[in-house]
Amino acid sequence: MQPRDLSEHEAYVPGRGAEEVARDLGMDPEELTKLSSNENPHGPSPDAVAAVEAAAPDVNVYPKASHTDLTERIAEKWGLDDSQVWVSAGADGSIDYLSRAFLEPNDDILVPKPGFSYYSMSARYHHGDASTYRISKDDDFEQSAEAILSAYDGERIVYATTPHNPTGSVLPREEIRTLAEEVDEQTLVVVDEAYAEYAAEPSAIDLLDEYDNLAVLRTFSKAYGLAGLRIGYAAVPSAWADAYARVNTPFAANELACRAALAAIDDEEHLERSVETARWAREYYHEELDVPTWDSGGNFVLCEVGDATAVAEATQERGVIVRDTSSFGLPECVRVSCGTREETKTAVEVLNGVVADLRPEASEP
Ligand SMILES: *Cc1c(COP(=O)(O)O)cnc(C)c1O
Repeated sequence: MQPRDLSEHEAYVPGRGAEEVARDLGMDPEELTKLSSNENPHGPSPDAVAAVEAAAPDVNVYPKASHTDLTERIAEKWGLDDSQVWVSAGADGSIDYLSRAFLEPNDDILVPKPGFSYYSMSARYHHGDASTYRISKDDDFEQSAEAILSAYDGERIVYATTPHNPTGSVLPREEIRTLAEEVDEQTLVVVDEAYAEYAAEPSAIDLLDEYDNLAVLRTFSKAYGLAGLRIGYAAVPSAWADAYARVNTPFAANELACRAALAAIDDEEHLERSVETARWAREYYHEELDVPTWDSGGNFVLCEVGDATAVAEATQERGVIVRDTSSFGLPECVRVSCGTREETKTAVEVLNGVVADLRPEASEP
């Protein structure tokens, strides 16, 4: 027997892990600097670690109270009703919940190209498909409602990523308003704020009061350093918030994840330190890398290096793992995450060295 026709489904290509790369190269994972997945170089909040340890003896019980507590705490943080907070296993889980709640078979979604691949993967799981709008290097990856709307053709969901992965560009708040106003009444605009903590722009969550065709995605994977626990949420308008009960996978947000997120959300010091390091590192990349880079609102910087695959392989051999953005549709770029100060300096040294060594013979006059 066979599964259904999955030929249109592409596998997610994650950034390579330190263990995996170390095994390939016969190195010690400790020797590697992993800057390929936009993880928090400071690790999780110590309070979150303590919360996980404290909750570990109780994992025989389904996560119920912790889920309720986390939902309430997030709602309080943003001034929302509890029902407007859809807690999920990572923001990826929320993408699936929105697909379940909105997509009928053959419905299309509209996504950025280059962009985060899970939006269209999720649509395809739900028997839909994806069209794309360009975020173009010719315009320095600038994002605007106009550019999105020029590609828009009545799709059921439109995704905007701000700050955008992998380019770092930001969709200004006024543009989000325009987008929500200009699309059809039955089109949902999803603003993915996975990296919003690092940006200067305020969250779009307060716009949920004004627009009932908007949803905002947030995650604990990046600035809160909890990627391995899989915890995130969607903030949605009250008009259809009750759909959660019908689309939520029971207990998908696990006990340890909920407890860790509750602790992390109140560790402001850890969050501030994480954001400050990332802001320092992205400036350092802009100033010190010998290749073109773009302004980033996130904890990563996109760099134009020529042959991304060759450069990513060579930096890896020298101990720094960066993300080849070929799978995002940018085969001439790598994305390098913001590390600690030390890691960031190492990354600059290695990347500059590799680019110089791989550069075709300096052109002769
Ligand atoms: C990391 C990321 C997410 C969320 O990841 P989760 O770990 O599932 O919370 C969502 N969108 C973008 C663009 C990301 O880079």
